[in-house]
Amino acid sequence: MSNTELHLKKKNWTVSDSTNLYGLNRWGEKYFSINNHGHINVSPKGSKDSGLDLLDLVNELESRNLTMPLLIRFDDILEDRLTQLHKAFANAINQYDYKGHYQGVFPIKCNQQRHVVEEVIACGHRWHFGLEAGSKAELLIALSLLKNSKALLICNGYKDQRYIETAILARQLNRQPIVVIEQLDEVERIIAASRELGAAPLIGVRAKLSSESSGRWGASIGEKAKFGLSIPEILESIEKLRSAQLLQDLRLLHFHVGSQINDIAILKDSLQEAGQIYIELNRLGAPMGYLDVGGGLGIDYDGSRTATEASTNYSLQNYANDVVATIKDCCESNSIKMPTLVSESGRAIASHFSVLIFNVLSKSEVPAEIPPAQNNESLIIRNLRETLKEIQEISTNEQIDSSRLQEAWNDAIKFKTDALNAFRLGYINLEERAIAEQLTWASAHSLNERLPHCSLIPEDLKELYATLAGTYYANLSIFRSAPDTWAIDQLFPIMPIHRLEEEPTQLGDFADLTCDSDGKLARFINNGQVKSLLELHRLKPNEKYLIGMFLGGAYQEVMGNLHNLFGSTHSVHVRMAPNGGYKLEHVVRGDTKSDVLQAMDHDPEIILERLRVASEEAIQKRTLKIKDAQRLMDHLESSLRQSTYLQE
Ligand SMILES: *Cc1c(COP(=O)(O)O)cnc(C)c1O
Repeated sequence: MSNTELHLKKKNWTVSDSTNLYGLNRWGEKYFSINNHGHINVSPKGSKDSGLDLLDLVNELESRNLTMPLLIRFDDILEDRLTQLHKAFANAINQYDYKGHYQGVFPIKCNQQRHVVEEVIACGHRWHFGLEAGSKAELLIALSLLKNSKALLICNGYKDQRYIETAILARQLNRQPIVVIEQLDEVERIIAASRELGAAPLIGVRAKLSSESSGRWGASIGEKAKFGLSIPEILESIEKLRSAQLLQDLRLLHFHVGSQINDIAILKDSLQEAGQIYIELNRLGAPMGYLDVGGGLGIDYDGSRTATEASTNYSLQNYANDVVATIKDCCESNSIKMPTLVSESGRAIASHFSVLIFNVLSKSEVPAEIPPAQNNESLIIRNLRETLKEIQEISTNEQIDSSRLQEAWNDAIKFKTDALNAFRLGYINLEERAIAEQLTWASAHSLNERLPHCSLIPEDLKELYATLAGTYYANLSIFRSAPDTWAIDQLFPIMPIHRLEEEPTQLGDFADLTCDSDGKLARFINNGQVKSLLELHRLKPNEKYLIGMFLGGAYQEVMGNLHNLFGSTHSVHVRMAPNGGYKLEHVVRGDTKSDVLQAMDHDPEIILERLRVASEEAIQKRTLKIKDAQRLMDHLESSLRQSTYLQE
């Protein structure tokens, strides 16, 4: 057995060491913790006594034939996030004595799944929580699901005349759509549609703010932003609406700073700018009434509370306070009625409630065996053996001077490079090259055992860890289930969901099932920084190793694609039952191979028929027995009905 133990950690590992290591106490909020069994505990209602053992839950789901990877949605968490958002605004309104209220909407693009949108609407009903649509298809979802006549339906995105006419007519269905002007030419279309129908929509206008944003999504703001009107364009729109006698329908000012605002200072600047624009619109004769601060309320993915990309330097309450206080000041000093505050927070509502669980199929190991010496070994190999011997002779009974280890490692690397060059030139054969690599690895293992005996480990030697790290093969497609980790290097908390009472002695990253070399998870949260290797456990024979990816409820599975034809995973909606325990509210089966083939216009029946013909021919030619042909056809047929992922 190879030995890649880290030899770094303390003796008596406890679950609280795991809590610290994986940062659960920082990003887990009140929903995720570790129980005494060393398993993740989920408290969907936010109190520990109503918790669920995540491993038990997964086992029970697996016994229902819900195979890995598996997306578990805790609808109670979704509800709690909505409650927290409304509480934060209620607190702020109370504290600052704001003369108005808050009425939010959920941006559908954040997670368009029917059960998710339905859940948001059902839970949000008590606050008249509405929806935001950014396309015609999303408008259809919103119109059909949002029945509360007091809830807002904010219509964003590019709009043709039919989109606008639909919104106007929907008012007569007792819905409250507000058509937000995002492009100058939409004004003409609103005017034309209103003339055509003899009725007007409620109108909003989206301002392009000039406050500078930063961070990954920062390009959504500033003068070059894709959406919104510049100040001259806003003025032009006002005059057009005025002459079409539609100015009395202009009710809302909208801005959107971009998703995941990391730094609260950016929000403050934008709020001040937007507050002034709101006042000017009012002065120019628009009745107004709503100020929509868009999305952008961030999530602290790594729990570091910093203005770095995976974090935010503010809390939900700080956010609500700033919105309320800034707009209040603005209106008060201009003696203007305070608007109803609207936000379009998607990420902040939908991130926490879903957990993606995947299993590890196997792990690549860096072998530690030392190949026995042969006669007449080449100089390069003898050099490597010598280096290994020197390392082994460094006693671990006393403090080690790290420069000795550093020197040995430099030698090993040099000789390994020599071996590769010699192989290229034909001076050593394949077997000798293999011995050279094994000796280098053995040296790395030997050095690794000695590192803990150094008082200080130099940065350069930390590369040893990377050399010894393993790749954990994950039953997962990141392109399907975590696309932002690939597309924009987003970080999510990722960690084992069990064995947390046990010290993780391995370092590794994850490779997914796709044939794409980008298909990997190799960036992990690290309290405001990023690390490329995660502390993991050694795999045990015949025991599964389950990993959770957390905080991915917003934008992940809905933006995932069919790369390599890996389809959607199974997903389930879990609700806590009043008498303890849980209830599966919905089970949504993942794509079968038949589904993904059809998505690319292949016909599974024709595929089967072609293979049947091919096997008949093979039977004729006696290259395939009838029995084996039948077995092959059985595999093919059942495969089409099964998930696209590997089965254990
Ligand atoms: C994407 C988007 C949102 C949601 O942003 P979050 O950061 O998820 O809250 C809100 N409004 C508009 C206009 C958007 O484009």
